[in-house]
Amino acid sequence: MSAEPTAGGPDSKGTIRVVQLYPRDMNIYGDWGNALVLRQRLTWHGYTPELLEYNVGDEFPEGVDIILGGGGQDSGQLVIQDDLQSRAGVLTDLAEDGAPMLVICGLYQLFGRFFKTRTGPVIPGIGILDVETHGTDERLIGNVKVTTDEFGEVLGYENHSGQTTLGSGVRPLGTVAKGTGNNSNDGHEGARYRNVVASYLHGSLLPKNPAIADFLIRTAAERKYGTFVPGTPDDRYSVLAREHAARRPR
Ligand code: GLN
Repeated sequence: MSAEPTAGGPDSKGTIRVVQLYPRDMNIYGDWGNALVLRQRLTWHGYTPELLEYNVGDEFPEGVDIILGGGGQDSGQLVIQDDLQSRAGVLTDLAEDGAPMLVICGLYQLFGRFFKTRTGPVIPGIGILDVETHGTDERLIGNVKVTTDEFGEVLGYENHSGQTTLGSGVRPLGTVAKGTGNNSNDGHEGARYRNVVASYLHGSLLPKNPAIADFLIRTAAERKYGTFVPGTPDDRYSVLAREHAARRPR
């Protein structure tokens, strides 16, 4: 018998609403898996997960607790750019208010100031993150291992032409121990600002990095309910996934 809480069921600690931004255009190398991990871990922690997709032209949902955003081709980033600008206000307000967010690669870039693509067009970002990105002729591809203070060793896979430089308003997620990360110069990967976690890592990221998933869940629960009461997640598969990912060559 499943012990999963149902919406409004007597055993649920409450509902957590997760919104994945632009999965139609921005969802590569398994990024939707991040939403699936949150759904499963929320259930294990005793909360009722609600997964919503937000695509270009949709009405923006009310009562958002966690925002997720994935990566995409430059062409996908061009498709969403106007709609994203129209949502800059609501997303900035949520970030400033402490809503937890995880943005990967293409949406990491567009949560920054701009992405100047390799072929010319400059795609404006929404400036939640004090970072800027410049497309290059070099594609940074492969498995990545990052050393972080907050989440231990973070494992994933990168594939991007954009190189991102951090301004003084953000701190890096960590330092690369394998792979490239933000750019080929400074050894940093990702960015942190308030409860926003930004990273180049796909794979998906969260199945191999449950510490980040639980950070998003804890922060969302505390923000909404004032407290987080953890459950007992089954980490057998994430342990195996981490062991496997750590052994992969670059
Ligand atoms: N199109 C962007 C780049 O190449 C983002 C790629 C991605 O999301 N994987 O840098």
